[in-house]
Amino acid sequence: MNQNWHGTLIRHLLLLLTVCLLAGLVSGYYGASLALGLGLYLAWTLKQLLRLHEWLRLYKPDEPPPDGYGLWGEVFDSIYHLQRRDQRVRGRLQAVIDRVQESTAALRDAVIMLDSDGNLEWWNRAAETLLGLKTPQDSGQPVTNLVRHPRFKEYFDVGNYHEPLEIPSPINDRVRVQLLITRYGNNEHLMLVRDVTRIHQLEQMRKDFVANVSHELRTPLTVISGYLETLLDNVEDVNPRWVRALQQMHQQGARMQTLLNDLLLLAKLEATDYPSDNLPVKVDSLLQTIQSDARALSGPRNQQISLEADASLYLKGSETELRSAFSNLIFNAVKYTPDNGQIRIRWWGDERGAYLSVQDSGIGIDPKHIPRLTERFYRVDSSRASNTGGTGLGLAIVKHVLIRHRARLEISSVPGHGSTFTCHFAPVQTVSRLSANTTSGARD
Ligand code: ADP
Repeated sequence: MNQNWHGTLIRHLLLLLTVCLLAGLVSGYYGASLALGLGLYLAWTLKQLLRLHEWLRLYKPDEPPPDGYGLWGEVFDSIYHLQRRDQRVRGRLQAVIDRVQESTAALRDAVIMLDSDGNLEWWNRAAETLLGLKTPQDSGQPVTNLVRHPRFKEYFDVGNYHEPLEIPSPINDRVRVQLLITRYGNNEHLMLVRDVTRIHQLEQMRKDFVANVSHELRTPLTVISGYLETLLDNVEDVNPRWVRALQQMHQQGARMQTLLNDLLLLAKLEATDYPSDNLPVKVDSLLQTIQSDARALSGPRNQQISLEADASLYLKGSETELRSAFSNLIFNAVKYTPDNGQIRIRWWGDERGAYLSVQDSGIGIDPKHIPRLTERFYRVDSSRASNTGGTGLGLAIVKHVLIRHRARLEISSVPGHGSTFTCHFAPVQTVSRLSANTTSGARD
């Protein structure tokens, strides 16, 4: 275009000069002819400029620029080509957007786009059926006003979206939905919602089955263990050949009872999301009781079990559940620490929450096992576990109790040197009783 434009400009100027010269030749007024010619040319140029300005002012994407001659024809022509190219690009983009919208509309999972403040920007049709969002009324509304579940509000506000959240659908209690939030762009959120009712029902059936079986097995086992106990109480009436067998049956019966109790406890923990109690628990006294139970369990093994606890720091929750979780950690330390070993129990708090740590100088755990330790029946070494009488459910119970108390379990261990299990409770779970601001100090 540049060369065309230059050529046209030179032609125009030459033509103008020729016409002015001819007019000067005829009239004899060269200067006036030139001035008149230039004036006319300027007026024509201004008129074209005005046409271009009018067209730009009332711009409609489908309307081509005005026709023009010469230099202005070149300019209008170039604008027309740009306009056509822009239309083609926009057409292609629109086609991509239409396809994306069509495919997301066809998805059975809900896709919801939220701005950085959590207000609804866009959603697909499934979001209307799963969450009851209404188009277009709900546009711009905060998502927490429309999905009004306390756990969703907490999940959204905390902003830790590593794990998905499962809640009942806001429009139908019988439908279970799983929500997964991902951040993108400028802190905007993309929320995916799936119907997991079927998986939830299967999971529920599994939990009910385990709970029912455990419950049903408990009664016959109590009867068998009772008879075995009676037989062993009257051991002198028993044929000596059977004594050892009876003792082992009694021992295994007790083990099965512990296992059933643990399974029932786990089923109970899974049945609800929150502990039934939410009262301040005096962790310091609770730990003292567990410490003396741990000493009894340790017996003559000469392990040093020390406790340092902040007596002013209370924890909101269920004392029974916390007792069960803390004793599992402390009794494990006793079980997996050799004679004369050290076990250090600490309870303290800071601005990031409260901590219970159980440190032992025991056998330790290979790092490859650590991510799987809280799985049910997972054992580092099954032969060792049967020696210690463990059920393999202890850490699973700890994990569930901690989730219910908004806490997480951190495990660090060096094989051959010992392990540290730390429960980290969120600040909302802790209560400081300043009146009782004394530290119980180290007690061996
Ligand atoms: P168990 O009833 O077998 O102790 P848990 O769920 O309490 O089951 O623990 C799972 C496994 O984690 C145990 O079998 C053991 O191998 C390992 N473990 C737990 N606590 C400790 C510890 N303090 N030191 C070493 N290993 C441990």
